[in-house]
Amino acid sequence: MTWRTEILQDLKANPEVSVLILGGGVNGVGLLRELALQGVDCLLTDKSDFVAGASSKSSRMIHGGLRYLENREFRLVRESLFERNRLLDNAAHCVTPLQTTIPLFSWLGGLLRSTLIFWGISVRPGSRGALIVKMGLWFYDFVTRKDRRTPKHYLTSKGESLRTIPGLNPSIVATASYWDAEISQPERLCIELIQDARAAYPRSRALNYVRLEGCQGGQVHLRDETTGESVAIRPRIVINATGAWVDLTNRTLGIETRFMGGTKGSHLVVRSPALRRALGDRMVYYQHADGRVCIVFPLKDKVVMGSTDIRTDDPDSAECDGAEIDYMMATLCGVFPGVEVSRQDIVFTFCGVRPLPASKSEVLANVSRGHSVEVIEPAGGREFPVYSLIGGKWTTFRAFAEQVADGVLARLGAERKCATQGVAIGGGRDFPADPERRREWIRRVAAESGLAEGRVAALVERYGTAAEAYAMGADAGAETPLRSLPGYTVGEIRRIVAREFVEHLADLVCRRSTIALLGDARPDVLRELAQVAGGVLGWDPARQEQEVAQALAAVRVPGARDVQGRATPPTPSAAS
Ligand SMILES: Cc1cc2nc3c(=O)[nH]c(=O)nc-3n(C[C@H](O)[C@H](O)[C@H](O)COP(=O)(O)OP(=O)(O)OC[C@H]3O[C@@H](n4cnc5c(N)ncnc54)[C@H](O)[C@@H]3O)c2cc1C
Repeated sequence: MTWRTEILQDLKANPEVSVLILGGGVNGVGLLRELALQGVDCLLTDKSDFVAGASSKSSRMIHGGLRYLENREFRLVRESLFERNRLLDNAAHCVTPLQTTIPLFSWLGGLLRSTLIFWGISVRPGSRGALIVKMGLWFYDFVTRKDRRTPKHYLTSKGESLRTIPGLNPSIVATASYWDAEISQPERLCIELIQDARAAYPRSRALNYVRLEGCQGGQVHLRDETTGESVAIRPRIVINATGAWVDLTNRTLGIETRFMGGTKGSHLVVRSPALRRALGDRMVYYQHADGRVCIVFPLKDKVVMGSTDIRTDDPDSAECDGAEIDYMMATLCGVFPGVEVSRQDIVFTFCGVRPLPASKSEVLANVSRGHSVEVIEPAGGREFPVYSLIGGKWTTFRAFAEQVADGVLARLGAERKCATQGVAIGGGRDFPADPERRREWIRRVAAESGLAEGRVAALVERYGTAAEAYAMGADAGAETPLRSLPGYTVGEIRRIVAREFVEHLADLVCRRSTIALLGDARPDVLRELAQVAGGVLGWDPARQEQEVAQALAAVRVPGARDVQGRATPPTPSAAS
């Protein structure tokens, strides 16, 4: 019996569930783990794959949010920096410090504008000069002084900056550098949170591809999209953690709300050896002429650039379009005029919808990135309360989960059993973050398992210390590299498919690995992966072909016709 059938059969026999969490993004799975550690039985469902929403489409920064200082969101910055430092410890296998450099185009620019924004007057952010940036970075260092995990900021002269970052716009007066953190595999970390929740408390269950059909009295009706089967469960509390879909989900539950004001944001992944060399290991964080903050950072041998910020009411149809591609190319050209990057260099794009709170602000950048919960009490025949999770950043998911869990525990009359600030996640457990200790770890596991050191190093980079169990149990016969993508072996793919809730080929390439992100989801790779995954999941050749077609559609560069041909004129709305 598969894990899925087992959960569904159990739910049919025992439909009572303490907490039903709708939505398997980082806020949903973070709460699942938080409650599992307190011994609360939960069922989490996602209408699509886990992490298919904003949580796999972010800029991958685990950060304090330097920009939020201008809006006086000191509490949010402090909380974010605290959580950033926790993630550096608890998920050291995929959260690492990141040097971030800001090109400065004037010494005093933006003083008046930043002062107005600081005092709550809604003006569009403009170019910020060295003085304003220096003040923000000083505050950043001040906030982290007691728990310093990253170096302090510093300014670099124009000459030195142009020498170390070739191709940078020569109109700069200096650059400023500070440290935040990046997350290499946010998608995998969410899967690890689900696995940790299941390990901590077996009554903690999660199902992807399960649609919410509605509710009646104390019952919630769910439909398993993989089999068409329906099941009715009786939750004591429902958590709506569906991000940008919160209002739509509430409507299905018979509640009219207008909590959300989502904005879509797109990123491009490009193959540009010159830009990759210019960046080194740093992110460049810059302002476009329209005042929007953009970023460009290395990802293995590729470069990621982003992002846009466009209001949208329909998270299901959000995708990166040709105008956004033009916009991002134009912003890059402003900061790196000396490096040529063209639309033909794009290997992948991704677009997500930020679950921002509803706001009348015309300036989207000024809408708070903080988080809150709205509790709707039982009414109109609905017998359970609905908690809607609004806003939040990837960085602050644990703090958000902790706050929501406290409310849930109080309502259930249960005690908190443990704090989660120091609880490691998945392959971050006992992770040797120090490079010398890591080399020793790799040597030991290689010697004990018989795998080559290079192979163990690749595994630890993907799975953290969970690589040890993999290496020890590796079937030598299945350690055959894939013909089309030799960095992965047949055994590794089989293991992901069998253990990580994969239902479709796109789950594997988009959210259990970086295959799509790095532009490697080519037709030959997808065919070989479909064959290997199909061997585990029982896909016949027709199903394999269908999976390949669906995965190709998922990784298609939207506006591909534009990318290959004529440039579409930039639309200013792409940045607003
Ligand atoms: C472009 C962009 C850049 C960002 N950059 C950063 C960054 O650098 N750092 C940072 O900290 N944060 C960043 N964020 C914010 C961060 O990604 C989000 O705040 C966070 O991922 C939200 O998580 P969530 O779980 O609330 O929502 P989501 O991840 O969107 O998850 C919601 C889930 O609910 C599911 N769902 C929808 N309807 C239903 C239903 N009826 N029933 C069941 N499931 C349903 C969806 O399929 C989805 O999986 C960024 C966001 C975007 C879009």
